[in-house]
Amino acid sequence: MKIFDTMTRYKEEFVPLEEKKVRMYVCGPTVYNLIHIGNARPMIFFDTVRRYFEYRGYDVTYVSNFTDVDDKIIKAAKEEGVDASVISERYIEECKKDMAGMNIKPATHHPRATQEIGGMIEMIQKLIENGHAYVVPDGTVYYRVSSFPEYGKLSHKKVEENQSGLRELKVSGEKDKADPNDFVLWKPKKEGEPYWDSPWCQGRPGWHIECSVMSKKYLGEQIDIHGGGEDLIFPHHENEIAQSEAVSGRMFAKYWMHNAFLNIDHVKMSKSLGNFKTVRQISEQYDLQVLRLFMLSAHYRSPLNFSREMMDGAKAGLERILTAMDHLREVLLSAEEKPLSPEEQSGLEQLAALAGKFEAAMDDDFNTADGLSAVYEIVKCANTTVNENSAKAYAEAMKQKLEVLLDVLGILPQRRQLSLDSRVEALIQERQEARKNKNYARADEIREELAAMGILLEDGKEGVKWKRA
Ligand SMILES: [Zn+2]
Repeated sequence: MKIFDTMTRYKEEFVPLEEKKVRMYVCGPTVYNLIHIGNARPMIFFDTVRRYFEYRGYDVTYVSNFTDVDDKIIKAAKEEGVDASVISERYIEECKKDMAGMNIKPATHHPRATQEIGGMIEMIQKLIENGHAYVVPDGTVYYRVSSFPEYGKLSHKKVEENQSGLRELKVSGEKDKADPNDFVLWKPKKEGEPYWDSPWCQGRPGWHIECSVMSKKYLGEQIDIHGGGEDLIFPHHENEIAQSEAVSGRMFAKYWMHNAFLNIDHVKMSKSLGNFKTVRQISEQYDLQVLRLFMLSAHYRSPLNFSREMMDGAKAGLERILTAMDHLREVLLSAEEKPLSPEEQSGLEQLAALAGKFEAAMDDDFNTADGLSAVYEIVKCANTTVNENSAKAYAEAMKQKLEVLLDVLGILPQRRQLSLDSRVEALIQERQEARKNKNYARADEIREELAAMGILLEDGKEGVKWKRA
């Protein structure tokens, strides 16, 4: 297997640190809002990487964090007048729902920054002790970039060029920074913000330290793959390397993988442009497996353009796959056990060749676009060569191979039913809200809508009950 390594800028042969084991860490979202489709790209892609390693017989330990303390979370909490943890808990739960919709496997570990503060303080302490970090009078702790000569080896930036990236790093104690390139490891609390005690001041960690700490705790000092969006290469991943390697004295991650951006109608997605799309919004129009298929239809290192046409194309693709699976299941209900015909024998050879094509594509730096084409060719083969006269073993072989390859791509082999119960519950909840807000017209409307679905409501002391009429 070959992986394009951001650090060497070459496709490198994958050799795990430990035989048949893969340790991978993928930076997760900051949980202050519903996740957007830009967050979904690395989630879907690296889940597919994990699935392919598992298909290849590797034992994968997959760690992805939730950043649950951050300026944006604190801002959202202030706006709502709640504790920051209320915001982060809420959006971790919502994120998990979206992940389930996109058929993303839960990580082996999903650590949260606020639960790992002790480890962060410990690592910062080590960095201070070995001369890689320093404390300024207001209690801010900075990483001394000049103490790590290899700084810039991932992003291929020279330290002097980094000045433009400094704006976002400006925080408290800035005037005491020894060098503009130095970055924050710990910062003092501000009024009304969450904080923790530390040897330097009451405050909270900088963002970069959490990934170094969690990666080490759950995967060890050295890992096989570190992944994330390309926007994380600098400064986030560069800083992670500086922190982790300064403490361990060893190479942190063997392969660095980064996915390219997602644009919307050829424009970079941003809140200010109003083209910001959440995964939840997409789920109102499509099965989220369509989003998954769309994301995998391009190579992960190519920018991907989100548009209605592309999504409709992916929807048609999913439909084609599921219709073929329906066809195979139907044939198998009555297929006879009999020897394979010569055509079926050569059909099996074709199937093996196409599966080989899938593997060759995925072995070549996870080329999901070509892998998906191989799956569509198998779908076509199944549609044209399997019929009511097929031998059972032949139809079975097609079905099994498709199921296995679809599982690598994270596509379920059958249609998902939107559960009636969850729709009914959602409508009942909306009706309760409407009544609470004295919007009786809307409440009556919902009652009628439910009645049309054959659902009767009974308002009782213990709340609303419902039954099928
Ligand atoms: Zn990270």
